[in-house]
Amino acid sequence: MPSGLRRLSNWRRWGLWALLGVLVVGMLATLVYLAARYEASVAQAHVERDVADALSDMRAALTRNVQELQALQSGQHNPQQWRSEAEALLRRHREWVSIERRGPGLQVLEAAETPYRAPVFAKMGRANSLPDVQQACVTARRLSSPAYSRSHFEPQSDGLGLELMELCLPEVQVGRLTGFLVATYSLSDLLATQIGPQMGRTQEISFTEADGTRLAMYGLARRGSKVFTAQQLLDLPGLTMVLRLDSWRRTEPDLFPNVLTALVTLMSIALVTVLFMLAHDTRRRLRVEQDLADALAFRKAMEDSLVTGLRARDLQGRTTYVNPAFCQMVGFSQEELLGRGAPAPYWPPERAQEYGKRQAVRLTGGHRPPREGFESVFMRKDGTRFPVLIIEAPLINAQGLQTGWMSAVLDISEQRRVEELSRASQERLQATARLATVGEMASLLSHELNQPLAAIASYASGSMNLLQQAPACAPDLQVAMRGISEQADRAGRVIRSVHDFVRRRDQAREPVSAGALIDAVLPLVNLQARKLGVEVEVRVPQGLPPVLCDRTMVEQVLLNLARNAMQAMDEARIPEPELVLQVRATPATEAGRRWLEFSVMDCGPGIPPEIQRQLFTPFFTTKAEGMGLGLSLCRTVVEQHGSQLVFEPNQPQGTIFRFTLPVQEL
Ligand code: ADP
Repeated sequence: MPSGLRRLSNWRRWGLWALLGVLVVGMLATLVYLAARYEASVAQAHVERDVADALSDMRAALTRNVQELQALQSGQHNPQQWRSEAEALLRRHREWVSIERRGPGLQVLEAAETPYRAPVFAKMGRANSLPDVQQACVTARRLSSPAYSRSHFEPQSDGLGLELMELCLPEVQVGRLTGFLVATYSLSDLLATQIGPQMGRTQEISFTEADGTRLAMYGLARRGSKVFTAQQLLDLPGLTMVLRLDSWRRTEPDLFPNVLTALVTLMSIALVTVLFMLAHDTRRRLRVEQDLADALAFRKAMEDSLVTGLRARDLQGRTTYVNPAFCQMVGFSQEELLGRGAPAPYWPPERAQEYGKRQAVRLTGGHRPPREGFESVFMRKDGTRFPVLIIEAPLINAQGLQTGWMSAVLDISEQRRVEELSRASQERLQATARLATVGEMASLLSHELNQPLAAIASYASGSMNLLQQAPACAPDLQVAMRGISEQADRAGRVIRSVHDFVRRRDQAREPVSAGALIDAVLPLVNLQARKLGVEVEVRVPQGLPPVLCDRTMVEQVLLNLARNAMQAMDEARIPEPELVLQVRATPATEAGRRWLEFSVMDCGPGIPPEIQRQLFTPFFTTKAEGMGLGLSLCRTVVEQHGSQLVFEPNQPQGTIFRFTLPVQEL
């Protein structure tokens, strides 16, 4: 993957993780908040219910108290009796601080005080609270039913004070007001006796005025902690107060207000932990992925750099893998090879059956391939065959089971070519060795033949001297004798130059005209031509420059080529055999050298291709009595003159042998 793209996807991945983290944290915070809210609303509802219960309890208690006071009122008592009944009432009801019987003008007739407190009105006097008593009694008279006064504060002698409230019951006899019964409530005791017993330890109940001024309270006041507050209006005749309940939590701050929140928090922690583990796992996975990608890239580079073809096959014989070197070797693409069973596209059709059998044996596990490999022949896509060396090994998977075969395939055609070349050069070496032996023999022969040739020459010249003395039969015999002498000379020269050639001495190069070279061999050529009935044509233009050459050897070359040509025409029984010896000038080369080209043309059978290949090989001949050395020697001589001996078909039939010789520059 390009690094830019990878960086982008990294950013995107981190962005997604960050978003996920933010979402999870947000969700958890919302959950905790909602749980806390829910818990708070439950607590609030609880407090609301408690205050409503407290209010109804309070109403019931006040109504009950009124009934008890009415009972006290209705009895026909003498003052003594009244007092003892009132005191009994005061003992049962701690919330009352005094009960008074007052006349129609509110003057006190009888009074009884609570035994639980020091005299309440001792400090300020009862007259101090008369306005409140009046207010309650005025209301009571107007309503003709019990009525309450506003609360009022009564300082006590111990420095504290009591918040009191007056209850006034009108006393009516036969439709006429005869007096009042006034009971004074201590508000804090009213709370303590009527609501206190049902209250929890974490609650505080109080009476407040509408503006929030606290009048009396009961319970533990714990400020600073989380408080839930609920209020209810206590509406009594002549008096309206607020009953307020405060409830607070035990600890502050309260991290886990209840099981739900704790559960949610626990789940959140678990979720965050899982998220972290997931992130960690993803990071590890990414690292492994990266390592894997690196390993893959490494493997790919290794595969691509291999020159050995690799091929894997499964146990059904289908190709499951080929590397680029294998594709290049056989010329088929990966798509053409993968998934193909027998016969594979690179099997030569003529061998497909044999290979199929070999593969079947391999797949049954009957025969293990040799470790050093075996040779086979494959076919390229273009149909050409080539030899290969195949080394096969079983393919074992991670579980230790064999899943197929892996083969390394080597193209050994180049190796074969080198082997062939070395075999050919070996043969050449052997031929050269034989040639060297022949050279030795030729050298020996030339040495041995010199003597008889010299003898022939001297006998010939002696005979000519004798013939001069007998001129009668001379002319023809003299010509013959001169011929013998010349040819003996020539034989001597040939032998010497062969000797020189074998000894590798510097050949004597001399300027010779092309005409002279042809003329020198023509008598011998004509001799054989006459015998075989061949027409000889010589084409040498006038004015050609002389060439620089080893004259004797070049004459030998011309003679050899002419003789081969005539023998070929004779063997093929050509009806009108013709031999052409041609010399012509070739265009000057780039270096400015000029050459003359010598051609020997016949109209024989031509040279078939299989013979062409071995034409210059020493000892190669198609003739029963041939030596097979002629052309090989000719080529060596021509090459020593810096040229090449070539041949080509003649038109309409036959062969042309050509070579060039350098012109002697003046
Ligand atoms: P030799 O003449 O002893 O056979 P050469 O080396 O001169 O040896 O020739 C080798 C072979 O080349 C001959 O045997 C002959 O088959 C073939 N050859 C040479 N010249 C010609 C030619 N002009 N036409 C046809 N075949 C030829």
